[in-house]
Amino acid sequence: MSLDLKSLVRTIPDYPKPGILFRDITTLIEHPDGFKESVERLAEAHRGMGFTHVAGIEARGFIFGAGVAIALGVGFVPVRKRGKLPGHTIGQNYALEYGVDTIEIHADVLSNVHKVLIVDDLIATGGTAIAAVSLIRRAGAVCDHAAFVIDLPDLGGADKLRAEKVNVASLMAFE
Ligand code: IMP
Repeated sequence: MSLDLKSLVRTIPDYPKPGILFRDITTLIEHPDGFKESVERLAEAHRGMGFTHVAGIEARGFIFGAGVAIALGVGFVPVRKRGKLPGHTIGQNYALEYGVDTIEIHADVLSNVHKVLIVDDLIATGGTAIAAVSLIRRAGAVCDHAAFVIDLPDLGGADKLRAEKVNVASLMAFE
């Protein structure tokens, strides 16, 4: 495995608003080896550690998280935006630049016999991932690992997660 995964991520300036450099993983997953190797590397770093589930964060976390769950042979828990899950849910609010958003999981899926690996495409400020950790811990499960394709270290999210006693893995960083 020697593919330069970082070179497969496309940067789109001024998306979704002026001044933002959007790191676009669609070019990575459109590449057959790029997608496979990303998933394999994320899974490899977490094999044999007793995870019972991967929790993928809507929406791009579903793409990578589903692959990692299959590779690890564990179940997949979708962490969804408010109002999308059909069953009884528990939710966690988190701050956006302007306002508040909510993520949810089904209330009956996790308990204290479970150990969950969070997967998302990218960590920036860490707000989304920290909300997911809180939600999963409130459900009673162990949640002390999170894996991302991309880390934006200047935005401090990975450090904030580590301060919450979460081990953070990423495949690449954009300074
Ligand atoms: P955070 O909550 O500030 O860490 O933002 C991370 C969330 O926003 C993740 O769910 C990402 O999918 C999304 N996100 C933020 N910036 C980017 C980007 O440049 N590319 C892709 N996703 C992004």
